[in-house]
Amino acid sequence: MIPYGKQYIDESDIEAVVEVLRSDWLTTGPKVAEFENAVADFVGAGHAVAVSNGTAALHTAMYALGIGPGDEVIVPPITFAATANCVVYQGGTPVFADVDPETLLIDPAQVEAKITPRTKAVITVDYAGHPCDYDTLREIADRHGLALVADACHALGAKYKDRPVGSLADLNIFSFHPVKHITTGEGGMITTDNEELAGRMRVFRNHGITSDYRQREQQGSWFYEMTDLGYNYRITDFQCALGLSQLRKLPGFLEKRRAIAARYDEAYADIPGIIPLSVRLEVFHAYHLYVIRLNSDRLDRSLFFKSLRDKGIFVNVHYIPVHLHPFYRDRFGTGHGCCPVAEEAYQQIISIPMFPGMSDEDVENCIASTCSIIELHFPGN
Ligand SMILES: *Cc1c(COP(=O)(O)O)cnc(C)c1O
Repeated sequence: MIPYGKQYIDESDIEAVVEVLRSDWLTTGPKVAEFENAVADFVGAGHAVAVSNGTAALHTAMYALGIGPGDEVIVPPITFAATANCVVYQGGTPVFADVDPETLLIDPAQVEAKITPRTKAVITVDYAGHPCDYDTLREIADRHGLALVADACHALGAKYKDRPVGSLADLNIFSFHPVKHITTGEGGMITTDNEELAGRMRVFRNHGITSDYRQREQQGSWFYEMTDLGYNYRITDFQCALGLSQLRKLPGFLEKRRAIAARYDEAYADIPGIIPLSVRLEVFHAYHLYVIRLNSDRLDRSLFFKSLRDKGIFVNVHYIPVHLHPFYRDRFGTGHGCCPVAEEAYQQIISIPMFPGMSDEDVENCIASTCSIIELHFPGN
């Protein structure tokens, strides 16, 4: 069985975790800041705030920007639900802007069309690991006085015009779930150049309290103040030790993902009915996912999906457009017709296995299996 994504853990990762388990600090210790600094350096951002998962990171970002009832935040529909849910956590309204048909990234023209006097922010999603069109989005955000937030959970290590993802938006969100580029089990981070927002986020992840236990111990003080309602969104030191160890392997992981993508590109280049998503020349793609579109009446996605699963290849669909989920239909009156490009793409997309631990044999097996299904539908090609 080949999953669509999977973590890669080696002995150095295990040793890094064990070392922390033998130390004094399991949480709010030195590894948290060490991991934050390492990620901030890697993406070229001034500050990084680590939290318990990517969803918490999104929520923390919405809090830091002061999103609240009556505020609108523009989001793409082709993403994991958490991208929109974080707006709702704060009482705001997510507004869906359709995607570009070739990349399935949020379409800047659609963003502009959805801006109202209530709009406060735009959340972009670097879907599959392909950075969005940040120059255009930045120009639109600045012209309308909006915050630009990147849900970069797919794109650690990606670049746009040689600038790393993580430094392109006002707040940039990462997840360290096992299927993502590096893992801490569960974990997330926000990177930013804005010191004030970073400070607000550090308080929010710690119940809204202005100092943590270790800071108080160092200061020899018991006094603390809760200045706003926050959450316990802290990450542990052993998770951060794992993250640090994983981050050292990230360049190799990226190289492997890009080599697998290059092999898929080559294999699918002349296969009728299969269209890999477009990749813009100005980007360095991080390939969290390798997504193909089945663009033919002769290829039924459900059948394709089932045939591959029967062969032990656990392809997946990323994503059911968020505005089609019952929660959003019921609460916000979204539904079919709201984002037609995304809705059509959703019928055709399928994610082929992509993770650094794939062997050459796994990759060739995926190619041979997909091509044999195509052969059934396009005999003689
Ligand atoms: C994984 C992911 C999230 C959520 O991250 P968790 O760490 O699982 O909470 C949010 N947005 C996108 C696009 C993701 O892929």
